[in-house]
Amino acid sequence: MQYRDLMRKAIWSVIYLLFILAPLFALLAGNLPPARNFATEFSVALGYSGLAMMGLQFGLTARFRHVTEPWGEDVIYHFHRRISLMAVGLVVAHPLILIAIRSPQLALPDSVRDIPWGARFAVLSIGSLILLVVMALWRKQLKLRYELWHLSHIVLALIAIAAGMLHMVGWGFYLVDPLKRTLWVGMTIFWIGLLLYVRLFKPLFMLRRPYRVTEVRAEHGDTTTLVMQPEGHAGFRFKPGQFGWLTLWASPFRITGHPFSFSSSAEAADGRVEMTIRNLGDFTSAVRTVTAGQRVYLDGPYGAFTIGHPTDMHVLIAGGIGITPMMSMIRTLADRGDRRPLVLLYGSKHWESMTFREELEALKTRLDLKVVYVLSDPPEGWSGESGRINAEVFRRHLPPEYAEHEYFICGPDVMMDAIETALGEMKVPLARYHSERYSFV
Ligand SMILES: Cc1cc2nc3c(=O)[nH]c(=O)nc-3n(C[C@H](O)[C@H](O)[C@H](O)COP(=O)(O)OP(=O)(O)OC[C@H]3O[C@@H](n4cnc5c(N)ncnc54)[C@H](O)[C@@H]3O)c2cc1C
Repeated sequence: MQYRDLMRKAIWSVIYLLFILAPLFALLAGNLPPARNFATEFSVALGYSGLAMMGLQFGLTARFRHVTEPWGEDVIYHFHRRISLMAVGLVVAHPLILIAIRSPQLALPDSVRDIPWGARFAVLSIGSLILLVVMALWRKQLKLRYELWHLSHIVLALIAIAAGMLHMVGWGFYLVDPLKRTLWVGMTIFWIGLLLYVRLFKPLFMLRRPYRVTEVRAEHGDTTTLVMQPEGHAGFRFKPGQFGWLTLWASPFRITGHPFSFSSSAEAADGRVEMTIRNLGDFTSAVRTVTAGQRVYLDGPYGAFTIGHPTDMHVLIAGGIGITPMMSMIRTLADRGDRRPLVLLYGSKHWESMTFREELEALKTRLDLKVVYVLSDPPEGWSGESGRINAEVFRRHLPPEYAEHEYFICGPDVMMDAIETALGEMKVPLARYHSERYSFV
């Protein structure tokens, strides 16, 4: 399995590099315009590579399951953020180098009306990119609503790519050759096609495969479980620990769906799925008002966070609402009659906010399951673990062959960072821990 994942990672990485480098090398084939100085040619190469990387961002976020599976969606989004900074850096370096060498191409004409279109599109493209990055990096400080930010992110990316291509074609230097121009214009159409795929074709598919809410359950910790049943189709099969994108009160064409882990057993034969949602913002606070019978749309399953080898001890570490994928794993293993050893370390602020605690106690009879509750704000008289889940808690509750267990972590970012550090100190190999981050952006 691991070898298969490694191979898939290697193949997709090569394809990614090919998509960026091949069009660049294609520019050097065939008839070439007379060479200019090195700095100019170098800056142009940076511009072309930056644009190719920007275009491929549409592929990274197009939710192609086969591409994202070997890494997990959170890793792909992390890469998307990092690589876009690099791409924007390359694109911005292009005019900066030309300014630094006082390139004659940057000489301003006497009248604004005489500024060539190629140059105007360059300003539009770079301006959109800079705005896009500022809004992505400082969305919270700018107090932008997620939905509004998401929409503007897509629009700005589209403007940046289209204007960048018009700049290249308008300037004409390398793209005078019709073959090369066709290649680059074709590639731009392909990038925009990726966006259409996720925003148009996928929603069309979802529209034909709706779900109906059959039950709304209030849970501990200001949390609600939605039970959803496929309507007129068989639904999809998911692996315990995976997640889907939920659209409520809107058609699947709405730009922003919300990601939630499946909390139910993956063994439900009738396609039923459950999501357990904590009130943490404007969308999630309204989930409790959902009524049975309501139509919803689900896009899934996604993610690489799922149970591992049956003979290994599985250590599930959940913080707050990070319990949902663990619950799916536990319920699934119970339904399968699987007796692998399981330890759940479940951290929360209060005892009262521990979602699923009664069911976890009941499930102990069907599984080889030990549950350790860790409260950061314990009630008086609490005799269990308190504080944070850390290396000491591991040492107190796990058999000492720490490096041989498989660890599954889901919770707030600070907790996940601390646990990953603790596991590193305990010499647990990286391949033994698996995580799902609830913050894509
Ligand atoms: C893979 C994954 C699985 C998740 N599983 C669960 C779960 O099982 N139960 C649960 O309660 N929560 C889960 N979450 C978190 C949940 O998606 C967010 O809490 C929810 O989308 C917040 O929306 P809001 O409008 O209520 O809050 P807001 O206040 O609008 O947003 C709070 C923060 O959540 C993030 N966010 C908001 N909307 C989205 C979106 N559409 N897509 C991605 N991130 C967004 C942003 O960082 C935002 O700053 C999961 C998140 C991810 C990434």
